[in-house]
Amino acid sequence: MTIDQVQNATHQLDVPAFLADFRHTTTFGATVAGGIDRQAGTSEHGAVRDWFSSRATDLGFEIRVDQIGNVFALWSWDPGAPYVLVGSHLDSQPLGGRFDGTYGVIAALHAAHAVARAATRDGISPGLNLAVVDWFNEEGARFAPSIMGSSVFAGLLDLDRALATTDPQGVTVAEAIGAIGYRGEAVTIPTGAYAEIHIEQGRRLEQSGIPIGVVQESWYTQKLLVRVLGEQSHTGATAMSDRRDALVAAAHVVLEAEQVTGEFPSGSIVTSVGKFDVQPNSPIVVPRQVDLVLDVRADDPAHVARARALLLERMADLARRRNVEISAEDFDIRPVQRFPAEGVDLGAKSASDEGVESMLLATMAGHDSVAMNRITPSVMLFVPSVDGVSHCEREFTSDADLVVGLRVLTQVVQRLVNREMAEVAPGEGGPR
Ligand SMILES: [Zn+2]
Repeated sequence: MTIDQVQNATHQLDVPAFLADFRHTTTFGATVAGGIDRQAGTSEHGAVRDWFSSRATDLGFEIRVDQIGNVFALWSWDPGAPYVLVGSHLDSQPLGGRFDGTYGVIAALHAAHAVARAATRDGISPGLNLAVVDWFNEEGARFAPSIMGSSVFAGLLDLDRALATTDPQGVTVAEAIGAIGYRGEAVTIPTGAYAEIHIEQGRRLEQSGIPIGVVQESWYTQKLLVRVLGEQSHTGATAMSDRRDALVAAAHVVLEAEQVTGEFPSGSIVTSVGKFDVQPNSPIVVPRQVDLVLDVRADDPAHVARARALLLERMADLARRRNVEISAEDFDIRPVQRFPAEGVDLGAKSASDEGVESMLLATMAGHDSVAMNRITPSVMLFVPSVDGVSHCEREFTSDADLVVGLRVLTQVVQRLVNREMAEVAPGEGGPR
């Protein structure tokens, strides 16, 4: 095996083909308002994966699917050597945007292909192989938790537990990926590094007029599964003073979740209730039970802990005043993850090689890179999101920004196959 340096891979980029490929993906699960609806394991998701697999095959990659339905497009010089993985996800939220995840997969395909072509042009066999990856179920809309495929790959989530997860109709992950033809076999892909590019989903890049963000760390996040239990009764026949209305109490929980952010420095914490199930949900019944998911995120874990404590206190108070029971269970706790400093430097250098400015950011959203960073040194890049909006049909990034991101990602992948992070340890997590 000759170990040599791949150079000038960006010269091998086919930018019109990248833009055409990206545009083509928006036809799978297209919604009328310009978004996409491609929830994990649906037929629309299967169709875009079929297209991606055949496109990658045409470009010379070899497709492998693992047991949780991650799709890998491999370019191997020495199958025994570790792989540089680069990718994101092709699934979406319901009525989601067309850039979230999909941009990262298509940019990865073209960046990896450019690096492979540069190596072929110069007769080079680099020290690491390449794999473009489409992770299964990053969004977690149909099957919770999110970041499922990469978490299983990284050994952070049990495979059998993930396969047995059900959607609201009782369909398991195993059944859903089987139905679209993406229940694969155990695959061994030794990993040397990981890179991902994604839309920012916030407006810090847009506001500063800088085209590339290099992610330093992820926010601390945690969810609370909250159950409010009252008593079911007749909406007409029950006196107001006799009611134990679970929905009214739950509505107060939602408001408390928003108001608690006022106790922290502006911009340092976000909370939401994104899921809310009312029972029996009948127009003539005072609701008996509400289950909701409360999501708390901050850069400082102490802020999350304090918000959680305040919310528990206020929920206990609400329960007393409204004569209902409120229970809260911690769930999906994700500590701060720091990307390796060498990877942050490598990302910034790659941007300056392309003659563009970059800024360091933290990510408030979870990403596959956060899971991968636990097992392999990872580099995460952002491109601007217009108005900072995401998880909606209005999500937008300009072609010019997509292409700058593609070029910088290509530099990153080139540096990674040239083993620039070979001696670097995976990222670190835990409290600061
Ligand atoms: Zn995403």
